Amino acid sequence: MTEATHEEAHGGALGSRLNWLRAAVLGANDGVVSTAGLVVGVAGATDDRGTLLTAGLAGLLAGSMSMAAGEYVSVSTQRDSEKAALAQEKRELREQPEAELAELTDLLAERGLSRAVAREAAQQLTERDALRAHARVELGIDPDELTNPWHAAWASFLAFTVGALLPLLAIVLPSASWRLPVTVVSVLAALALTGLASARLGAAKARPAVLRNVLGGALAMAVTHAAGALLGAAGV
Ligand SMILES: [Zn+2]
Repeated sequence: MTEATHEEAHGGALGSRLNWLRAAVLGANDGVVSTAGLVVGVAGATDDRGTLLTAGLAGLLAGSMSMAAGEYVSVSTQRDSEKAALAQEKRELREQPEAELAELTDLLAERGLSRAVAREAAQQLTERDALRAHARVELGIDPDELTNPWHAAWASFLAFTVGALLPLLAIVLPSASWRLPVTVVSVLAALALTGLASARLGAAKARPAVLRNVLGGALAMAVTHAAGALLGAAGV
């Protein structure tokens, strides 16, 4: 087990920080790929800098807001179900404390404690803070650290925006003849980096992750550029 997965298996603060970091890298990656596909596609049809800037900026805003909204909805839903689970746990603790103590004992014993020690531990945990013990051991959540949907939404918005800025600037800043090479090279380099980072954070093999990520981005740009060039040539 690497240090990262080890920490995560224990659900420590480092584990949740790693999850945030991984989400940020994935969000930035999305921003790079979708905006690169968009601007390289439009560049297939037109040389006009204003058009490229408008398309890229619209893509950046649409993508970052859609990511933020999606994240807000999914984290809110998760938080609602965690709150409901906590409320149910609270009710069960009030109505059937003996059954709950036995349940906690079983869960601790499943984790490798002997029956006697599990029983003792369950009793101590129950005396100190029964709800927290059940939340952690049974539900795997910390009642004081439920994810805030607004934080999650802002984080996705920012991550996507940071990623999207790279292809946007790369297509707008250079002169017309340098636009495509600069954008393609910087996008593929960025995707190699985000692929490497997410492999490292997920303790996966680096080379296949980097290759998949770079090839995916290259394919996206090739397809949209071909579509843009066809439409541009047809005078649409
Ligand atoms: Zn319980």
